[in-house]
Amino acid sequence: GSANKIDEIKKAISSYPDFPIKGILFRDVFSVLRQPKIFGLLRDVMVEHAKQLQPPVQVVAALESRGFLFGPLIALELNVPFVPIRKKGKLPGMTRTVQYSLEYGQDAFEMQEDAVKQGDRVLIVDDLLATGGSMSASCSLVNAFGAEVAECFVVMELSDLNGRAKIAANVHSLIQYD
Ligand code: AMP
Repeated sequence: GSANKIDEIKKAISSYPDFPIKGILFRDVFSVLRQPKIFGLLRDVMVEHAKQLQPPVQVVAALESRGFLFGPLIALELNVPFVPIRKKGKLPGMTRTVQYSLEYGQDAFEMQEDAVKQGDRVLIVDDLLATGGSMSASCSLVNAFGAEVAECFVVMELSDLNGRAKIAANVHSLIQYD
């Protein structure tokens, strides 16, 4: 079943203490992609989960940059558009921007103006939920189009940081760390 698959995936994720700065335990999802069999399990679990969401997802959006590893796989299997959420200044054409606060200062995410329509049900994908700052900003951005967040989907969640408390939409994670 999917619980066994998720155990196998969790075992394949390498952790690096004090990266990129002291005190952070970095969870490297790229280690899963080194093992095609495990990457295939991850794809299967993600797609199975996304397919059973009701009402159905109409657009898959993912966050730069590790969200881009998974969002397109899910979108293709659902046969819906994939659209990127990127740091300010990276996307061509008309864009919509949302500012968000970091520990020090501010940053901004953008989506292309024609990426989602009012009323679309959007699945937002990233590799990992930590403080929830990136995901909550992404939700605000999707909502700014008049679209609805169907779910925030992450491979990994740092449960102790309680990032999901910042997010009004449903949050689903495959793997939890505390
Ligand atoms: P946050 O906005 O605090 O929820 O941070 C989430 C974003 O930062 C995600 O896009 C992750 O890729 C990255 N991130 C934060 N903490 C970690 C960690 N411990 N290991 C790997 N990536 C992380």
